Amino acid sequence: MLWLRQLRWKLFLSHVLVIAVGLVILLPTAQFFARNPLIGTGDPSFSPPSEFSPTANPAPTSDLFQSTLEQALLIAGFAVLGAAVVVSLFVSRRIVEPLQELTLVSGRLAQGYYRERTLIQSDDELALLSRSINQLAEALEKTEQRRLGLITDVSHELRIPLTVIAGYMEGLIDGVVQPEPQIFAMVHHEAVRLKWMTEELALLSRAEAGQLRVEPRLIVLSIVIERVVTQFQSQMASQNLTLEVNLPNDLPPVLADPDRVEQILINLMTNAVQYTPSGGKITVFARSLDPFIEIGVVDTGVGIPVEHLPHVFERFYRVDKSRARQSGGAGIGLTIARHLVYAQGGEIWAESTGTGHGSTFRFTLPFYDSTFK
Ligand code: ADP
Repeated sequence: MLWLRQLRWKLFLSHVLVIAVGLVILLPTAQFFARNPLIGTGDPSFSPPSEFSPTANPAPTSDLFQSTLEQALLIAGFAVLGAAVVVSLFVSRRIVEPLQELTLVSGRLAQGYYRERTLIQSDDELALLSRSINQLAEALEKTEQRRLGLITDVSHELRIPLTVIAGYMEGLIDGVVQPEPQIFAMVHHEAVRLKWMTEELALLSRAEAGQLRVEPRLIVLSIVIERVVTQFQSQMASQNLTLEVNLPNDLPPVLADPDRVEQILINLMTNAVQYTPSGGKITVFARSLDPFIEIGVVDTGVGIPVEHLPHVFERFYRVDKSRARQSGGAGIGLTIARHLVYAQGGEIWAESTGTGHGSTFRFTLPFYDSTFK
């Protein structure tokens, strides 16, 4: 009898119920007055008929019978009306009260009170509506928490280089710090870091708002990969790192945005170079895994403890906060990379067998589909 719990059936049955109640009252009332026609006429000579001597009283006249019946119906009508009002009030209260609660809660949500929830306990459409309003409230609350978290994280990240710059500048003004080239170099380094961070943050906020523009076109991946590794060659040479690039000749073309793919690779390469000590090796490869192409950056660096692997793509997540701080990482690069991969229909993940065992970052991009329009 699940259908009985649906609101439309409830409404329908409530009307049927009202009519039924009316009839239940009307019929016995009419019967009663028909059997006792002189009740209520005010005739003082009236005495109720005897069941056992039907001839004791004369048969009622048609006029009398009619007026009695009309009176009966009038009384019954009022009784029906009263009953209908009671039933309708009861039914509509059961419908209107939850609606009032839903209105109140949605109004509070609109005002920014995202912790509000409806507490409707039933199995009808109102409960479904209540559940979806609660889901909406949960989503809003999470978004709000993320927004507040982002503000806290961003202000924290920006405060550090600003504090360093302000500290050096104050020292220089007060004459406590000597105006030497390495001091200016440090201030310059922090200013560059600040600039880079604001650019990354702008990119991150666009990515998190789903506003990253991706313009896919048919690209030859090996060209993009070669372009990226060339950018890192001198830095790798200065850090005494070896580079290996493994690209099969028959790599199929992919449908992707070359600038965005370059950005992903730059972020992965930056980390590989950053977290691989001198003498290490970085390998970049691509291979076809129908219907995707897998691209990977493998390093022999510090590695990532297994318990941290699921979190490295989270915003501002750093495995070793002190080490990352020295090397300038803010924990944004992989988050941006993940957004860029997702926006192009791929997947990205990290692999490592633990500290000191190096890391592998892989991502996929879909093959070019010739039927794609
Ligand atoms: P960051 O700017 O701090 O490098 P990312 O989002 O790029 O931020 O990386 C998040 C964290 O993941 C880093 O702080 C680091 O702890 C870890 N990580 C990323 N890539 C590597 C890597 N190749 N080797 C070791 N740890 C890495």
